[in-house]
Amino acid sequence: MFKHFKDMEYTVRVDRPDPRFANLLLEQFGGPHGELKAAMQYFTQAVGCNDPKIRDMLQDIAAEELSHFEMVGECIAMLLGPTDKVSRDFPAIHMAILTGGPILTNAMGIPWNASYVETTGDLYCDLASNATAELRAKLIYERLLQQTDDPGVKDMIRFLLSREEAHNFSFMQAIETIKGQYVDANFRDSEFSKMYANLSTGMGDARGPWNQGHGIQYEDNPQEKYGGPVEYGQDRSPDGPGEIGPDYQDNQRNNPQFTQSEQGPATVPGQENPMH
Ligand code: MN
Ligand code: MN
Repeated sequence: MFKHFKDMEYTVRVDRPDPRFANLLLEQFGGPHGELKAAMQYFTQAVGCNDPKIRDMLQDIAAEELSHFEMVGECIAMLLGPTDKVSRDFPAIHMAILTGGPILTNAMGIPWNASYVETTGDLYCDLASNATAELRAKLIYERLLQQTDDPGVKDMIRFLLSREEAHNFSFMQAIETIKGQYVDANFRDSEFSKMYANLSTGMGDARGPWNQGHGIQYEDNPQEKYGGPVEYGQDRSPDGPGEIGPDYQDNQRNNPQFTQSEQGPATVPGQENPMH
């Protein structure tokens, strides 16, 4: 059940209309790193989440993102000012003509799109994605801060930016509680998952913790070592629970790296002798 409180999470103040900045702020209303995206992403993840504690966090943060969406929208409406006062050469004239207020687009007028919402149903993957989404939101607010001198607007943006930092922290901490689970299970346990391939060769080949230590095998000339394309599959350990079953056979691809099965198609329980 949802209930709307008319008080906003933070009081939005605007000194004077500034349609140019109203246009820029649209990026966080209907853009790919904006508040609606965040609210929809966390809410969508929450309804599919069967970990009650993380589900609670996702719901809390989704609700707050909707509050941010409201604040940003109100701020845009005030910054746009009276539509009959908007200059004819205002680049986001569509805002004045279509809605007289915020429109569900990014700053360039591209409509909000559900593909901005990243949801996989794998909690480890989703929380990592959310932590990064918060960084992107923070980054855009930092850039927006450079584009306005309105003290009230700057205050609101600093508040939002700080909240995205708080969300980033919560998501990062939550990830720590599910280390080794979901897509993080059996992470880096094969030869190839520990290999660094130096495939851009020449001046400036750099070394760092991304390609040395931590059990990393640095391959200076992977094509020489393997004598051609790497043979995928030779390094696979037995299938564990949650992986594709041992009977699964991929015989639909016209790719020499996937060898054709000699055993015939996999059997399905109840259809041990499939008709062809
Ligand atoms: Mn937000
Ligand atoms: Mn956030």
